[in-house]
Amino acid sequence: MPHRIVLATLNAKFIHASLGLRYLRANMERYGGADLDAFTELREFTIQRTPQDIVDELLRALGTAQAGDVQIVGLGVYIWNVVPSTQVIELLKAQRPEVRVVLGGPEVSHELGSQPIVDAADYVITGWGDISFPKLCRALVHGPQPLMKVIPGEQPSLDDIAMPYHHYSDVDLAQRVLYVEASRGCPFKCEFCLSALDKTAWAFDLDAFLAELASLYDRGARTFKFVDRTFNLKIDASIQILEFFLSRLAARPQEPLFVHFELVPDQLPERLKSCISRFPAGVLQFEIGIQTLNPEVQQAISRRQDAAKTEANLRWLTTHSHAHLHTDLIFGLPGEDWQSFARGFDTLWSWGPHEIQLGVLKRLRGTPLAVKAHPGMAFQSEPPYAILQTDALSTEEVQSFIRLARYWDLVANSGRFSQTLDLLLQGTSAFVAFASFAHWLWCTHERTSGLTPEMLVDALFTYLSEQRQLAPAQVRSALLSDYVGSGARASPHSLRGHLPSRRARALLSPPEGARHTARQKRHAVVLNP
Ligand code: SF4
Repeated sequence: MPHRIVLATLNAKFIHASLGLRYLRANMERYGGADLDAFTELREFTIQRTPQDIVDELLRALGTAQAGDVQIVGLGVYIWNVVPSTQVIELLKAQRPEVRVVLGGPEVSHELGSQPIVDAADYVITGWGDISFPKLCRALVHGPQPLMKVIPGEQPSLDDIAMPYHHYSDVDLAQRVLYVEASRGCPFKCEFCLSALDKTAWAFDLDAFLAELASLYDRGARTFKFVDRTFNLKIDASIQILEFFLSRLAARPQEPLFVHFELVPDQLPERLKSCISRFPAGVLQFEIGIQTLNPEVQQAISRRQDAAKTEANLRWLTTHSHAHLHTDLIFGLPGEDWQSFARGFDTLWSWGPHEIQLGVLKRLRGTPLAVKAHPGMAFQSEPPYAILQTDALSTEEVQSFIRLARYWDLVANSGRFSQTLDLLLQGTSAFVAFASFAHWLWCTHERTSGLTPEMLVDALFTYLSEQRQLAPAQVRSALLSDYVGSGARASPHSLRGHLPSRRARALLSPPEGARHTARQKRHAVVLNP
């Protein structure tokens, strides 16, 4: 058995295919050499697998080493996998201490001294690994042996990095979200975000990138997630990429296509709008980070955002395009209290996005937020390092918000209760109205998981008719319409005797499975780890 290099990571779900691993794989020949390229293989796992199971598979991939053979495991470490990855490495080293373990990824690029996974590994590459990992492997196999355990990753020009897309397999193309990137980095400096360290954005050669996209499309890829932090930074490039997809849609209008981009909200010039407006429904999804609408909080986190332009652009997108708009707010930013967050939520909700993802501030290693002292702020010491309290928010408020966010996902972001939501959010403040429901739901059900659509229908009926004292017939009518429209086929208690027959329901709406799959795909793409 010759030298072996196994590139591995633990994804959050099978549907997420690792782009980072494929970059390392693609650059092995150029920077490691043809011999190492031939010994390298890629193994992806999910965090649902047991650590021993993963180690067993890694050992099978490595095979039995003969004297002089070098065996290397390169592991991508992220916030969602650092705990099980640590167990994997500790087990692997206990069984085969001679295997060289090389770590990389954002979770091991900062604050290395405090991490057990770093102690257990042989080498750590911080920052970009595209060419530093192959070079390190070359040194381990052919010498000279590296002198340092921690190796700062080289950051070459993007022209010097081989693109990874041919390492997506046919199974990846058919079953997984394909991550692609036309650019790296971000010129903005929001202090909670790792991209704040980039200070600028770099673009891949657009013609070469479009040729790779064309090859993926021709091989059958139809679900693309652009990981560019700011897709609409260079408008000419954005338009060329959108035109690429429009030309595919024109050639094959019957074929499904789904493309996800992250946009900055205050930059949408007319020519970009006109391009966006030509897409049919179901193709484009835009993730638009709003984070906070409080100008003082924006200033505290060094975030620049033009509120007037943001509002105008969101309103334009909801009325003049078919794009699905997924917006984000973050709870717990410095200086933001419950009332200020509620005002921001109400304002954003009034602009009409399809979804508002309610996130909780996390202390990500290396970010300016993690480095700067923020009196009164406390975070979990373990992943996901979520905020526990701030000088403006108590622990109880943070916990209430976490429950509220979960219920918001189930009731609002799920898209299952659009008519009922209009009743639920009536009043002067949509946020206050939903918070009241969330408080009642928690007190009566004492759980945030395992709530079926039928349980939610009954809970909404009870809450709206008894607590809010709306007319039961009006509430039932909205719930009936939502429930039948969702394609669900069961029979919630509050709707018994009012539901159409199963046969009639089958004719009225697509099966639950089809709707559920479309929703799942949208969410899987957004809720990328
Ligand atoms: S939050 Fe968005 S705009 Fe701000 S630094 Fe991060 S990627 Fe850039």
